[in-house]
Amino acid sequence: MASINTVTGPIPASALGVTLMHEHIICSSPVMMSEFGDKWFDREAVVELASSKVRQAKERQGVQSIVDATPLNLARDIPLLAEVSRRSGVNIIAATGMYYLDDFAFWKVSPEIMAEYFVEECRTGIRDSNICPGMLKCAVEAPQINGTNRSYLEIMAIVQKATGLPIIAHSHSASRNGLPMMDFFSERGVDPARVIIGHCLDSCDAGYVRELLARGCYVGCDRIYRHDGSLPRRIEVMAQLLKDGWARRMVLSHDFICYANHLNRRQRAASLPASSVHDDPLGLCVVHDLVIPALLARGATMDDIEQMTRRNPSALLAMQA
Ligand SMILES: [Zn+2]
Repeated sequence: MASINTVTGPIPASALGVTLMHEHIICSSPVMMSEFGDKWFDREAVVELASSKVRQAKERQGVQSIVDATPLNLARDIPLLAEVSRRSGVNIIAATGMYYLDDFAFWKVSPEIMAEYFVEECRTGIRDSNICPGMLKCAVEAPQINGTNRSYLEIMAIVQKATGLPIIAHSHSASRNGLPMMDFFSERGVDPARVIIGHCLDSCDAGYVRELLARGCYVGCDRIYRHDGSLPRRIEVMAQLLKDGWARRMVLSHDFICYANHLNRRQRAASLPASSVHDDPLGLCVVHDLVIPALLARGATMDDIEQMTRRNPSALLAMQA
């Protein structure tokens, strides 16, 4: 029977339900967390804040599962994710992999050797938790694949082929770098149907997204929030793609961050702008409150919505025993 790794243990694929495919409970600095601990952030307050945001998505919109696409160097924290999952009653799927920032440990160690560490935690569990990741994460922000980015991608290509887990890739739409990423993965034998290129709507360029879809990957329709006024254009691109029959390769999410670095102990939340990237006041409900009704009004069907929110996540995350 197919199962899915969550932060509280494996669940049957049939229990996944409505799923947001790219969110974050926490994005922070693992160094500040490990070195300054409670001085850096109030763990209980973070868990409570995140649980309330996640619970709201469940109670109001029936969200049953969330992929937490946080890589190691943005402070993936399994006990914290597990506590949020228990308090909110929502399944959380954790990731493994690296964000595009340079990390000294990777400078002179080959991708093959680094990949062994990641493969091992996919097979036997993260640290001593017995909890395995359900998703692989990589990120390229630069227009080209080179240097550190290249090495992280190389590692995830090896891990993908060894484990079968899907990859979610942070990309930069304005430079269309999802295309060279797909070339890179294809040259290394990664099945494109196991890759999601994320942040595809950032440039509101339907032509670019269509080129990606032609490569056989999924496209992450995320960064769904209202701070810059681009949401109507993003919805328009999605509606066009659905009209062309692409529901089978689209997944939805916000790229919301329940707790980010800026809420550290010494910086008052009140000093921050009320709304910015990643923290729409509607939290994890923008997709269901605003986007799905707008897509239905533009001709999308309930079957399209089911495909994007249930069947595609299940096809990506379910692993045969
Ligand atoms: Zn993200």
